[in-house]
Amino acid sequence: QDNGGHLFSYAAEPKPDGQIQNKYINLDHGDPTMYQSYWKQMGDRTDVVISGWQSVSYFSDTKTVCWFLEPGFANAVTRLHKLVGNAETGNRHIVVGTGSTQLFQAVLYALCPNDAPDPMSIVSAAPYYSSYPLITDCLKSGLYKWRGEVDDFNKEAPYIELVTSPNNPDGSIREAVFNGSGQILVHDVAYYWPQYTPISSKADHDIMLFTLSKSTGHAGMRLGWALVKDEAIAKKMVKFIEISSIGVSKDSQVRAAKIMDVINDSYEDSKTSNESKRFFDYAREEMAKRWSQLREVVNNGQAFSLPTLPVGECNFSHQTFATQPAFAWLKCEQVDDCESFLKKHKILTRGGVHFGSSKKYVRASLIGHEEDYNEFIRRLSLINSVESP
Ligand code: PMP
Repeated sequence: QDNGGHLFSYAAEPKPDGQIQNKYINLDHGDPTMYQSYWKQMGDRTDVVISGWQSVSYFSDTKTVCWFLEPGFANAVTRLHKLVGNAETGNRHIVVGTGSTQLFQAVLYALCPNDAPDPMSIVSAAPYYSSYPLITDCLKSGLYKWRGEVDDFNKEAPYIELVTSPNNPDGSIREAVFNGSGQILVHDVAYYWPQYTPISSKADHDIMLFTLSKSTGHAGMRLGWALVKDEAIAKKMVKFIEISSIGVSKDSQVRAAKIMDVINDSYEDSKTSNESKRFFDYAREEMAKRWSQLREVVNNGQAFSLPTLPVGECNFSHQTFATQPAFAWLKCEQVDDCESFLKKHKILTRGGVHFGSSKKYVRASLIGHEEDYNEFIRRLSLINSVESP
């Protein structure tokens, strides 16, 4: 069953049948449930109490460009970037969104003039994040149109290139590739956090999109933020969010601020840092463990291969390591349709075609529950021992 035409589909998951060995392992979505066990360990430290009288107004701070941005959330975001050193926050507007998914739509709205004769081309080098074409074309907008990675559009006229780095699905570290004079860049830096890749410098682009989903792992809070240099663009993004949802949940922003500040405090306060593992150390080690198991099992046979990813020193952790993405971009070496092949083994992944690539590839999430991850590794190992001569 094809499920990749939906932004987010449960349809592909057949009913569970008890034992983990018989279960379908769903690695299709990048659902960050891996992080749940860490936050459980933190007990009540991240609790917030929100009373009935709170979050009554639509407004948060009418003096800022983003009038629905909670000051505590803005403060926590700035603090976290300062701590990690992954993005420049000075001279920028923060725009909060219902996930970075809403911010992506707000960016398209803000960057495309509404009186242009033709829709603006939206491009990204393949393999690109499979939601981009779906979001871009779902309302058949007259403002913009998905062109994927075609190279024959007019590069003198304005166009938007999405630069995702580290990239979803393959984890590559990217820069703009089309390089025309009409280029407008949007940087999706959802995975530029020290559990996934060494932080080599502060990202300093005009428009950067971040999300709580992949940083602290709270996808269910549905919060993202954009760091935007140009005030007019920030204002238009805010306008879009005003039109589409009249702002963003304050309750979520208050909770997110608490969680981010627990991380911030743990690195700043040497007393708490001795008590338990700090978030980014935990998450980096967990990703390292998963990647080393995955590489070992893949290298033990000929059925699969994985991309080689760059090694670097991280300015935040002072560790040297290779990018260890949230997804495995797995290639089946011996079959043409990798997604169907893995599905026969009750492993659900997203096929390469949805990312503008070939059926030989699939994207498998590595940030799910440990139990599912271990079962995934066990099944890959079995497949490898049967399929490899
Ligand atoms: N951009 C990229 C590259 C992503 O992988 C994701 C989540 N899969 C998003 C944006 C959307 O994140 P959010 O949950 O904040 O909408």
